[in-house]
Amino acid sequence: MKRKIVLLGATGSIGTQALEVVRAHPNRFEMQVLTAATNAELLIQQALEFRPQAVVITDEGKYAEVKAALTGTSIEVLAGSAALEEVVQYDGVGLVISALVGSAGLRPTIAAIKAGKDIALANKETLVVGGQLVMELVSKHGVNLLPVDSEHSAIFQCLVGESNNPIERVYLTASGGPFRGKDRAYLASVSHEQALCHPNWVMGAKITIDSATLMNKGLEVIEAKWLFGLEARQIDVVVHPQSAVHSLVQFEDGSIKAQLGPADMRLPIQYALTYPNRVGNNFKRFNFADFPSLTFEQPDTDTFRNLALAYRALELGGNVPCILNAANEEVVAAFLKGGVGFLQMSDIIEETMATVGHIAKPSLDDYLRTDRESRAIAKALVIKNKTYII
Ligand code: NAD
Ligand code: MG
Repeated sequence: MKRKIVLLGATGSIGTQALEVVRAHPNRFEMQVLTAATNAELLIQQALEFRPQAVVITDEGKYAEVKAALTGTSIEVLAGSAALEEVVQYDGVGLVISALVGSAGLRPTIAAIKAGKDIALANKETLVVGGQLVMELVSKHGVNLLPVDSEHSAIFQCLVGESNNPIERVYLTASGGPFRGKDRAYLASVSHEQALCHPNWVMGAKITIDSATLMNKGLEVIEAKWLFGLEARQIDVVVHPQSAVHSLVQFEDGSIKAQLGPADMRLPIQYALTYPNRVGNNFKRFNFADFPSLTFEQPDTDTFRNLALAYRALELGGNVPCILNAANEEVVAAFLKGGVGFLQMSDIIEETMATVGHIAKPSLDDYLRTDRESRAIAKALVIKNKTYII
């Protein structure tokens, strides 16, 4: 029997690569639901190819366009964010791939877990914002939460067969992004076009900016804490510009296991879909001749302050990572529009973290309120900073 999949964020970088994996294994998987925020055209094309039971377009202004294009098919068309929480609960859903971007992933992921559905999680912001709550629900409802993020998939793969062996430390590898080795004077005037040129990976705009600021690695440190039950002091970041070693686990005897492979997100996506099995494919293989040397260096957290801010948020705990994430989503959106400078992003995140009230054990409502409040403060700081620039 084919495994039925709900794909949240089907039109994005991870979403389209997940569909490539499904296309490569037509006898194993079937798309039950596809969702998108605004890209009606691509969602319609995907719906006509994969013939799901339903599609969701969260931008209600695009509903009529999608509905008209799918008239005459049996595909149900829904609109609005609340519909995401509905479709993840459909009968027969075997797996929900969470590939939307930002804290918008929190509510549908929680709804899916409560409905007893397994999750393949690309949307790291969900664990950054509400990791404690999400992991409690995962264990209460006995679902599998399978990492898609390449570093976390690497750690997950290194842990196979090690269930009785505690982790001493994990090393998350970071490419360093397009500005590795640059100083603050250089970074003060970089544009979003420069920041969008990632050396090794082609990804959505938000995560590409996060990679340039090292916030992506900061979010991944927090994600690793929750996925693998670690303390902050057990999570290290090592800059590895070749992106061949996807991450490493050190055990109590000092031995280290690493996972390597091509920089191709279809591999961790496929592993999350076929776990615990590995399934053949014809994706491009790793070639050692292309990598005569693999190098490792310390991250520069004085220049790229976001990584240090993420460790601070993790240590403070409670709703502080939620504040960090919300402020970051706002400054990245502003940076992409030219509304704030590269270095100011960290300043605004830090100030938002110092302004919003801390809550030690937040409920879902506390997280949602914190998210709204932090965004409002960060937005106001963006406007204030803009007037300074002018
Ligand atoms: P993307 O911007 O390319 O795609 C995002 C998808 O989510 C799109 O389908 C969009 O329509 C949908 N979406 C965006 N905002 C939404 C909202 N508010 N409500 C509902 N749907 C919304 O992003 P991406 O690069 O594919 O990243 C998706 C997630 O996966 C992010 O959390 C990212 O950090 C993570 N991730 C991505 C990569 C990668 O290679 N792209 C690697 C590791 C982890
Ligand atoms: Mg990653």
